[in-house]
Amino acid sequence: MPPQQSRASGDSMAFKKVPFTSIIALSIALSAHPALASVRVFQLKQPPTILKSPPQIPQILSRVFGLFGNAPKRSEEQIVYEFIADNKLTFGMENPGDQKLSLKKIRQTSRGKTLRFTQIEKGIPVSGAELIAVFDANGELEAVNSSLISLSSPPGAAEITREEAFAIASRELGYENAELGEGSKDGLQIVNTADGATLVWQFSVREGADASRPMQVQVFAAGAKKGEIFSKISLESGISGDIVIYDASVTLIIPNPIYKGLKVLKNGKRRWAGLLKKPAEAKLAHASLQKASDYYLSTFGRDSFDGNGASLIASVNVGRKFSRLLDPFGMRQNAAWMGPWKMFIFGAGGSMLGNFTKALDVVAHEYTHAVVGSTADLTYAGQPGALNEHLADLFGAAAERHFEPSANPFIIGEKCLRGELKKSGAPGLRDMLDPHNSLNAERALGRPNAPEFAQPAHMAEIPREMGPDCVSNEGNDNCGVHLLNGVPNRALSLAILESGWESIMDLAYRVLTNRLLASSDFENYRDQLLDECQASMPNDTCEAIAQGFESVGL
Ligand SMILES: [Zn+2]
Repeated sequence: MPPQQSRASGDSMAFKKVPFTSIIALSIALSAHPALASVRVFQLKQPPTILKSPPQIPQILSRVFGLFGNAPKRSEEQIVYEFIADNKLTFGMENPGDQKLSLKKIRQTSRGKTLRFTQIEKGIPVSGAELIAVFDANGELEAVNSSLISLSSPPGAAEITREEAFAIASRELGYENAELGEGSKDGLQIVNTADGATLVWQFSVREGADASRPMQVQVFAAGAKKGEIFSKISLESGISGDIVIYDASVTLIIPNPIYKGLKVLKNGKRRWAGLLKKPAEAKLAHASLQKASDYYLSTFGRDSFDGNGASLIASVNVGRKFSRLLDPFGMRQNAAWMGPWKMFIFGAGGSMLGNFTKALDVVAHEYTHAVVGSTADLTYAGQPGALNEHLADLFGAAAERHFEPSANPFIIGEKCLRGELKKSGAPGLRDMLDPHNSLNAERALGRPNAPEFAQPAHMAEIPREMGPDCVSNEGNDNCGVHLLNGVPNRALSLAILESGWESIMDLAYRVLTNRLLASSDFENYRDQLLDECQASMPNDTCEAIAQGFESVGL
């Protein structure tokens, strides 16, 4: 099939990046299965343990066009397995049908169907290793986005229990009253290390007394390092993470009612329960969550954050009794989605930040974190984490604009600044279009050695310590998830200025729900936007996307 005219610019870009090995692999596929010859393959070559190792080999993006054949009708799952087997050099997998892939989700889309698989070995998932197969309306495999990996050795058996791993890590991380969550991927996982594949226990934990320090932790389950922490990611997906200043004293137990489990909303209906000391705040949270979910329902047909009518549970006035000294910028002056506990948290506000429940862009930002958790489930660290933050900003801004037209919809959290931060003249927490204009809290508070600007507007401005060698921890904002998002924020804002909100949001929603992997980075995001665009939208829109990314060095 000859390339369509509208795909011309994407093709030339794609072909430049095809490495030699991939051409061989796809040539084999071409002769074996002519019907699969036009599949676009995106294989992330970084190890899925992205927190420890930088990508070693650049991503492969390849596209080969051929003729349609008359292969007998096979199931979509079978087509995917055969395609992987025929391209084993690309995917590093010999026989995917032989219990190496587990089909997790099938999604009907406006253009066909997507199948989402996770990689497994001896029945255990491989951390971060996934494959998404995109089929068109005729049942033809159209594109593959993959982070499958070739394991260096088979893992052994777990030598400590989940309870033992949890107890060791909770003690080491200094939780007084550790509370276990239910993350969707928690449990035994395989990670690739320099010493070969090994097992880790993954779990979500937070301080039980005050819901602080939510964290996803992986602990070695076997081998010489068993019981040691392999990775840790803060799950505090708060809006103001870029100015969180951590203080060890927040781990103290403080008697603090947080109205946990209060049902503010259930499927759009008010459900009051429990004791409400400040009903006004709960009413504001209710109204804003209602609008955020209405935006997703009316614009994309999405019923609640999980697409399946899940109840919305929120806690308001969190940290109202904290003193400023104990919680300078923590939960009290923040809003967050706590995925493993399936609840929204809105801080009571303080001298610097507040009004979270009234700020629709902030509430829709947190709501979008919940949507991401039910779809791409982007790992909350480094570039995938920054994409999580970017999408939260993007859909947060779009939802607010939907209900409250404003002169500059690219400003996030304009209602939330107080005190010194407000006096500094910053327009809000973030400026998506001009990231240099985002709130520079260090500078606003007159701190010595404040950075020139809070957010990079270009790849070249990303600080070295937030680059590929960064190891995620509580003190570096998971390698700058609230810092790096300035780059995709600007790219998409520029595209919106060119093509309008409706077309870009439609595209971004389809890429979020149908194409992104948990380990997708900025380049993979750009590639998926362009590929989805070229298959379904006018050339002008795709050109605007490409231009936006080019402007930020991608
Ligand atoms: Zn966020």
